[in-house]
Amino acid sequence: MAPNRNRSGIYADFHLHTVYSADSLIQPKTLVDMLNAHPFIKVAAVTDHDSVRANKPTIELAKAYPDILIIPGCEISTKDGETPIGDMLVLGTYELPPKPWTPENVADYAKSIDAVAIVAHPFRTYGMGEYARNLKVDAIEVLNGGTSKEGNAKAKAFAHELGLPGTAGSDAHQVSELFAVCNQLDASMDVDSVLAAIKKGRVWAHLPTTVQSK
Ligand SMILES: [Zn+2]
Repeated sequence: MAPNRNRSGIYADFHLHTVYSADSLIQPKTLVDMLNAHPFIKVAAVTDHDSVRANKPTIELAKAYPDILIIPGCEISTKDGETPIGDMLVLGTYELPPKPWTPENVADYAKSIDAVAIVAHPFRTYGMGEYARNLKVDAIEVLNGGTSKEGNAKAKAFAHELGLPGTAGSDAHQVSELFAVCNQLDASMDVDSVLAAIKKGRVWAHLPTTVQSK
């Protein structure tokens, strides 16, 4: 499959927050309903701030719909001592990484459980920018729903320079922000296949408005 704007492959939002993040209003049930209602985005990673509590209840709710898939995850506020470094997404985990949450430890944790570590919005508030250069991560978030065009363009160039795949995530904190951006994936509808596609770079970031029906 080549990246294209026809509706081939599967479509996913890899960064969003539920009410288990203190700053989000999205109920797990609403997320599942929105995935069910969406014409082609059927996969979502739950990435609450420093929490994995939404994963199990959301996956439980999604079981009622065979054509949608929830990826368990979290967004870790990495630190070096007391100094905030920047946010890192972990996709494919039901547990939080062991502390201390240095970027290196979080990336190592992801590797140790075959999860995926993604540097979130590197060139925005809470982004780690150039710090990501020497980390062993799987991907860079190159299209973030809460980041300026310039910030996303810089992230895309950065991912290219590092030779890493680029992912998209709405970073939704309210329902109207869900699925503002999406990933097209060469994968099947199961967690391992989606994670493998990211690692292999079989992922393309899009605005959903540019995805045309066949
Ligand atoms: Zn976020």
